[in-house]
Amino acid sequence: MMVTRLYTHPACLTHDMGAGHPESPARLTSILAALKAPEFAELDWAEAPPATFEQIMRAHPPAFIEGVLAAVPAAGLVALDADTILSPGSGVAALCAAGALTTAVDAVARGEIANAFCAVRPPGHHAEASIAMGFCIFNNVAIGARYVQRKYGVRRVLIVDWDYHHGNGTQEAFYQDGSVFYFSTHHYGAYPGTGSAEETGAGKGAGKILNVPLPPGASDAQIVEAFQTKLVPAARNFKPDFILISAGFDGMQNDLLGVFNITPAGFAAITRIVVELSKELCRGRIVSVLEGGYRLDGLAESVLAHVQVLREE
Ligand SMILES: [Zn+2]
Repeated sequence: MMVTRLYTHPACLTHDMGAGHPESPARLTSILAALKAPEFAELDWAEAPPATFEQIMRAHPPAFIEGVLAAVPAAGLVALDADTILSPGSGVAALCAAGALTTAVDAVARGEIANAFCAVRPPGHHAEASIAMGFCIFNNVAIGARYVQRKYGVRRVLIVDWDYHHGNGTQEAFYQDGSVFYFSTHHYGAYPGTGSAEETGAGKGAGKILNVPLPPGASDAQIVEAFQTKLVPAARNFKPDFILISAGFDGMQNDLLGVFNITPAGFAAITRIVVELSKELCRGRIVSVLEGGYRLDGLAESVLAHVQVLREE
């Protein structure tokens, strides 16, 4: 029986942007503790190796990668922008977060496992090619998409991003690409300000960006409807060979940074829609990666609901 594998790395707990920062190591601590529950005993835990420079280079120019790694302090904190901060552990954490994607892609592409969830931080979807921002250093999901295309000759990758915030970095990476379809539900008007429904891609990428803004207070029913009426037909039309999920949980009720009302049942429902699409279109091949989610007591519960559906496959 094929299993769901959980990728993480202890270094992801050492990236610490300072007391009171919402993107805290405690987020990951709570998720990992919850996933150790007896009912998840058959989850296959694996350590994520650091990504190689060459792998990261598919989504970021060498000068940017070198600059970020050189800026990592030996002690104290260094700010890359107002809310994206490097601590001594941040370099290895960022490398392992990206490496979780590439190694998970390997395992799924080779058919070793059914699918994977990468419980890593820093998150990635705000990171643009040469800009670390919004708590994100390297764009993990963009690196994963480029990696699966290059290493396995996969032509079409679908990225599904249900973080409360728009993944400006991921959109930027593939805006004129055409081989990667980017679907995002988010609160348009919240950080970072991008993600209107009118942003649909350009050139070869025309029509390959699908932004579905949801209103404040968006419910399970509203996000499920967006997935059923927008994502499902778009995915069937695009026919992906591989699916990546930017799994942000800051759309949950009472999140510290969001004003949506998504419950664990809602995250389970949209996961199920993506899993069904993957079975119909690409032999179930899914790699999911943690993005946001900041209310500690609700985050783990939402992640469990997501992983529970992944591992039912
Ligand atoms: Zn977010």
